[in-house]
Amino acid sequence: MTCTPEDVLAAAKQMLHDGLVEGTAGNISGRLDDGSVCLTPSSVDYELMTLDDLVIVDLDGAVLGGHRSPTTEKDLHLSVLRSYPELGAVIHTHAVYATMFALAHEPIPAVIEEVVVYLGGEIPCCDYKGTGSRDLGDEVAKRLADRGAALLANHGLVTCASTPAKALHNAALAERTAQIVWGARAMGATIHPLPEKVNVDMAGVYRFVRDNPS
Ligand SMILES: [Zn+2]
Repeated sequence: MTCTPEDVLAAAKQMLHDGLVEGTAGNISGRLDDGSVCLTPSSVDYELMTLDDLVIVDLDGAVLGGHRSPTTEKDLHLSVLRSYPELGAVIHTHAVYATMFALAHEPIPAVIEEVVVYLGGEIPCCDYKGTGSRDLGDEVAKRLADRGAALLANHGLVTCASTPAKALHNAALAERTAQIVWGARAMGATIHPLPEKVNVDMAGVYRFVRDNPS
């Protein structure tokens, strides 16, 4: 699936509105019709961001359009979009509850059915790699082979989908799940996993939808 720069900008504004980012942290990419990629810029406030601030790059990161610098975390976006032609958008945020799990290097468990349907299963934590490095991009792409979200160790969250709006939905779902699991643990509750058959069946749904985006 492809999208427009307007879709990338709309998701960036919504991401701020939803409380998934603060200031200039986080970033979004979307695959355009011609195969190039629209990226949010480095160091521009989301409230002030306009279409003119977005940057167009090719899949290797060469700038094709725009007058700003692309996000310094562009490699993780491009590595994912290069690896998986069925995907059309990547979002990276420092959402609070998800980042708590990233600090612990602990996956967010798939204890709610919609997590498996939309994200493919538990949200794994990538091995630590330096921010903005090519190694981090490779590590993230590996983890997103069959998932719609992954944690960046000691850093934050990354999600993917066919469109920026769906990648944003995945980010909100990952954050909400992290908050729920954190809260259940704070209650001292025993968290029960989903039955294995449910996990397998719903992961199959995730795979089908990912490979047949509508
Ligand atoms: Zn970051």
